[in-house]
Amino acid sequence: MVNWIEIETKWRKKWEEGKDFEADPNEKEKKFITVAYPYPNSPQHIGHGRTYTLADVHARYYRMKGYNVLFPMGFHYTGTPIHGMAKRVEAGDAEIIDGLKNIYHVPDDAIKTFVEPIKIADYFHEEIKAGMVEMGYSIDWRREFTTIDPVYQKFIEWQINTLKEKNLIMQGSHPVGWCPKDQNPVSQHDTMGDVEPDFTEYVLIKFKFDDYIIPTATLRPETLFGVTNLWVNLETNYKKITVDGEKWIVSKECARKLEFLDRKISYDGEISGTELVGKQVTVPHRNEKILMLEASFVESHTGTGLVMSVPAHAPFDYQALVDFKKDQPLASELQLIKPISIIETEGYGEIPAKEAVEKLGILDQNDPKLEQATEEIYGKEFYGGILKQNTEQFAGKKVSEAKDSIKEWLAKEKYSDILLELTNTPVICRCGAECVVKILTNQWFLNYGDKTWKEKAIKCLDGMSILPQEIRPEFNYVIGWLHERACARQHGLGTKLPWDKDWIVESLSDSVIYMAYYILAKFVNAGKISADTLSKVFFDYVFLGYGSLGKVSEITKIPKETVDEIKNEFSYFYPVDSRHSGRDLVPNHLTFFVLNHVAIFPENNWPKQIVVNGSVLMDGKKMSKSMGNIIPLRQAIRDYGADPIRLAIIISAELLQDADFNLESVTGIKNKLVSLLEECSKLKPGKLENLQAEDRWILSKLQSLISNVSSSVEKMRLREGLHGNLFSFESDLQWYFKRAKAKGRSDYSGVLYEINSKRVAMLSPFAPHIAEEMWEKLGNSGLVSQTSWPTVSADVIDPNAIQSEELLKSTIDDISNILKVTQMKPKKITIYTADAFKSKAYHSILEKVMAGQTNMGVIMKDLIANSETADIKKNPDFVQKTIKDILSEPTEIRKTKLETKEFDEKSLIENELVSLARADFGVDVQVFSESDSGIYDPKGKARHARPFKPAILIE
Ligand SMILES: [Zn+2]
Repeated sequence: MVNWIEIETKWRKKWEEGKDFEADPNEKEKKFITVAYPYPNSPQHIGHGRTYTLADVHARYYRMKGYNVLFPMGFHYTGTPIHGMAKRVEAGDAEIIDGLKNIYHVPDDAIKTFVEPIKIADYFHEEIKAGMVEMGYSIDWRREFTTIDPVYQKFIEWQINTLKEKNLIMQGSHPVGWCPKDQNPVSQHDTMGDVEPDFTEYVLIKFKFDDYIIPTATLRPETLFGVTNLWVNLETNYKKITVDGEKWIVSKECARKLEFLDRKISYDGEISGTELVGKQVTVPHRNEKILMLEASFVESHTGTGLVMSVPAHAPFDYQALVDFKKDQPLASELQLIKPISIIETEGYGEIPAKEAVEKLGILDQNDPKLEQATEEIYGKEFYGGILKQNTEQFAGKKVSEAKDSIKEWLAKEKYSDILLELTNTPVICRCGAECVVKILTNQWFLNYGDKTWKEKAIKCLDGMSILPQEIRPEFNYVIGWLHERACARQHGLGTKLPWDKDWIVESLSDSVIYMAYYILAKFVNAGKISADTLSKVFFDYVFLGYGSLGKVSEITKIPKETVDEIKNEFSYFYPVDSRHSGRDLVPNHLTFFVLNHVAIFPENNWPKQIVVNGSVLMDGKKMSKSMGNIIPLRQAIRDYGADPIRLAIIISAELLQDADFNLESVTGIKNKLVSLLEECSKLKPGKLENLQAEDRWILSKLQSLISNVSSSVEKMRLREGLHGNLFSFESDLQWYFKRAKAKGRSDYSGVLYEINSKRVAMLSPFAPHIAEEMWEKLGNSGLVSQTSWPTVSADVIDPNAIQSEELLKSTIDDISNILKVTQMKPKKITIYTADAFKSKAYHSILEKVMAGQTNMGVIMKDLIANSETADIKKNPDFVQKTIKDILSEPTEIRKTKLETKEFDEKSLIENELVSLARADFGVDVQVFSESDSGIYDPKGKARHARPFKPAILIE
């Protein structure tokens, strides 16, 4: 039995005593690795553990590679969620108190104090920190801080002032996601399920109806030219309202949306859908009347609750028209309403919507596939469509080019208005209220829409490593659409806006350049600097190199040496070498991190790398409090040990995939680690001499393992690296043991010692505690976390040994397969190796294939032209099969074969395979070369022998 807690505590104590993870500047090259700091409003669960574990492996790996690695941690107190939670506790909210008690196991005494937000943050801060320590994260805790520490607040004031000086923060009126209950802007941190409110600007086309205007919302104003009617929902009670002096008819929900958009609204009465249906409205730009008809797909909460129908180009409208006509008498004039085609697009005929609806087999207007049809047509017509003659002054223009001028024309003629609407509805605030879009007037915004700023960010991004590569386009996309963003809030914890103390810097804006603060935090915690004397001159000098040391020291009253030390430490550790975070932070935090760095710091301090990971599922399901499938991280550590949890998280998925955590895999990993530990206890170092073929082979394989694991970790393909080391290599070892056993050997402990030393070293960043224990069992006195990462010794790689073992392995496999298929009990096995001239032909084919030539005719012609291999023309089958053999092998093996031309298969099989076969199959084996005189070949098998593919006769 392995006592995980005991082992883990023992090694953590050693690391702590040795101050192993405290990084100060030195002569070595540095790596500065950071992770998004946690928000302490709950304890961490297994899902949170993923990002930190990945970053910790990264940090530990670079430490072993010889870098001076700084891996620090802070705690993000800023924001409204903790505030909201305190209010709910104060109100005695049963749901939240039950969650704290029964899911998070917070003691009653502590819950009582939770009416104060700061108490909640402090409690979970300590809880999360304890979990991080127990997970073995190699953090430099001297640099810990919270975002409400006084010096941090000075730092944020400096950041915000610097941005304002650069005109990147401005006052203005801009739309934001908004909680009507809290009266506060909302972003991802403030919503249930961490949704970033996303909104779109719709064009409202104003149709006239007596004294009223009936507006309809569209993203495709150009389709006005193809309007045939309006759609009304019979079930909806519409509101008559006055909007800035104009009389409108819209749904109740639309009227409410308009109120938040800074419009002056008064309510004048109601009109039902039934009253509208059958009446006529006037199309704004030509005095033409069209009918209002009924359709059930029209929803009161979308747009204005009324829809402009363009059946030729909008699948919903087309289908609604088809549905509508089914209910009308055949003679009715309504049957005469026909789609009006206004856009010509390659690949579509006259009525694109009809084609799309029919292609997808759509049945009625409530079919969800209509969304897909709409998206497809919208995309194709936007990028490839040309406006037809019936679009008047816009005829002949591309849709993508005409769209903006049509918008301008409509606005200028007062035919239109605009409506902002959330696109990812419903967005629910953590307080429970449904969020809306609000135009905030005279508020403070970060001008993320600034073109020059975006260009700089793109430049930074282009020079950065983004892992995994496939996530890069998402960053470009986000920078593309980003616009002004509110950077202050009225409630919550945080730093006050320096020039307007009624406002607090919001939580996504005070967490973008704090990696620089880790340098200061060390000096703050050591009592060497304090908030009261810090001001712009200090930060400008330390971070940007402006001003003079003398002046800074004089103003701040900090000794010159200390100021200099801080500045030098910053220059040493900055820029950030790697930033780790979850995928959900790509559209906000990670992109803002890039934007704020390029705005404030010179190019040499721009970040170098971002690593993004997917989330963690629990037995295939999303983890959530409501699902009741949350396992608090500390609980899991107590139950299973930290290392098994680290490995279970890593092994279940590569970076971007969602990792599926399950307890079965934890158990499997535990067993694997225990058996490796036992093995290490038995091994003693030995001299690597008198090496036999299989020793040279397994040591060569070890070199490939080192090379593969190293390159996997470099690319943060940790699953692949861990799997290769812990599991895939086992099959090689198994072969090795089989060979050694067949030969009756017992002298290979030294070889195994060498192998396990390297494997344990490569396991160390992944499972740091148990790797130390294994290392100690191997007889080492130092720490494995302090040894060097293994490197490949090219001189150990023995191509001949690799080739020999591969041949033996595949021949044994072939015999086993034949026996399995034929169900024979063998009495005698005969093996035939290929003739020498076939070997020449083989190498000639191999060279050609490696050079990219795989055409059988060309290869054949060359072989015949050479007198040494000309005989091959009698055996065209050989050439074809050999090409196939070669192509089915890994490039690595092909290269090895190319390097070793002389290779005596017959004596290898005689010397090595005979004993193996006797052990495996219990019979004698006879070996012939194809051209041997006196060959025993009753079935004429010998002629089928190919190099590395001997022919086999089983009797
Ligand atoms: Zn709210």
